[in-house]
Amino acid sequence: MELAGKNILVVGLARTGVAVTRFLAEKGARVTVTDMRDYDALAGVLAELEDLELNLELGRHVPHSFLMADLIVVSPGVPMDIKPLQMARSQKRRVVSEVELASWFIKAPMVAITGTNGKTTTTTLTGEIFRACGFETYVGGNIGDPLIDLVTSGQEVERVVVELSSFQLEGIESLRPDVAVLLNITEDHLDRYHSYQEYIDAKLRIFENQTESDYAVLNIDDPLVAACAGKLKARIFPMSREQELEEGISCRDGFITFNHNGKSLSFGTEGLLLKGVHNLDNIMASLASTLLMRCDGDCAYQAVKTFKGLPHRMELVTTVDGVGYYEDSKGTNVGSVVKSLESFPKGITLIAGGKDKGGSYEPLAPLVKERVSHLILIGEAKERMSGALGSLTDTRFAATLEEAVELSHKLTKPGGVVLFSPACSSFDMFKDYLERANCFKAAVRALAPKKEDA
Ligand code: ADP
Repeated sequence: MELAGKNILVVGLARTGVAVTRFLAEKGARVTVTDMRDYDALAGVLAELEDLELNLELGRHVPHSFLMADLIVVSPGVPMDIKPLQMARSQKRRVVSEVELASWFIKAPMVAITGTNGKTTTTTLTGEIFRACGFETYVGGNIGDPLIDLVTSGQEVERVVVELSSFQLEGIESLRPDVAVLLNITEDHLDRYHSYQEYIDAKLRIFENQTESDYAVLNIDDPLVAACAGKLKARIFPMSREQELEEGISCRDGFITFNHNGKSLSFGTEGLLLKGVHNLDNIMASLASTLLMRCDGDCAYQAVKTFKGLPHRMELVTTVDGVGYYEDSKGTNVGSVVKSLESFPKGITLIAGGKDKGGSYEPLAPLVKERVSHLILIGEAKERMSGALGSLTDTRFAATLEEAVELSHKLTKPGGVVLFSPACSSFDMFKDYLERANCFKAAVRALAPKKEDA
């Protein structure tokens, strides 16, 4: 699409919206930006755009602008079903997400990664592997840097790795990854979708424009992911921790084995820095994507071996009185907490709770019963979580995260672990997951600074 002279509406003026606005204005489009926040709230952002000629509609959305736009670009934080967008779509206006817009200008081969959990870890590791194998690589999307920044910079790269959320996938038209990865699907964001099926359908759109020359890397241990295999046009490249695969990547008995077109590569898992069974899935997905895109096995493995993982995903904060305190503030849904609990044998004190997303907490029940000695609940979700899990173990409420940490210190015996893995978002008590993570860490460090073993 030729952008010069077109009426383009950018919805949402956070980091991505700003990048899109600059890109479009520099391409000669007539840009209108709209955000429900007003001038005062957006003062900092507007200062960044002050050199551009823009039409601003702030503190409200103007329906007429949605109806008159040749193109509407929606930022990742904006729900696709807000009224003016629904109306625009019903009037056949073109509505896309930023990743779709960026994809029109990107030529380099692309790996796209989605799933309920593990996206950021897998995206980061995939980027690291490509770089270790000598490919100039851009990593972006939901993970931090908007994809459009790559286009604006004019940087020539050889590989692009993009993390895609279900919200971004709702706004694609032609985005077509050479390799698309679906890690898992479990309930999440039911506060933003009308049904679980709608969320699943959004995730599956990652495959929608692929052809027989592309690959779909599917975690076939996940029944919902496996179920989509028959419907895809791309070549299926399965991954599994349960089955050996003649064509695909599998992990058994301490080895990851990549089998493709009669070629076989094997990699030991002992000594890897990334811990937990779920991270084996992330490693398999990263290895599959990169090896399918011409990476050398030895270089790829070297990158896997040195990858330490990311903060706020099961990060050991410190050990106090023989108890390890793990911060997993990114554990914002039930599926990720299941994996975090699976990573420890027994004697866990689990601190959980926060803003309820409306899903079921039942999938946690067997692990809570088997491995959690004490459950400490905080936030808005505490009543509902207690209803689902409270009868399975010693369960208590705390008014603040600091109080929960102090209580966990009193209750947990040496040799045990305290795991802060909320299964909820943070917005009831904190600005975001980062502020929540820092609060937990500070509370842990305040426990007994002199007694820290680590
Ligand atoms: P995302 O970007 O999808 O939110 P992250 O890599 O940031 O994924 O991890 C988010 C949370 O999910 C963390 O609590 C982490 O321990 C957990 N997690 C990571 N990978 C997986 C996986 N493959 N399956 C389930 N949970 C995972």
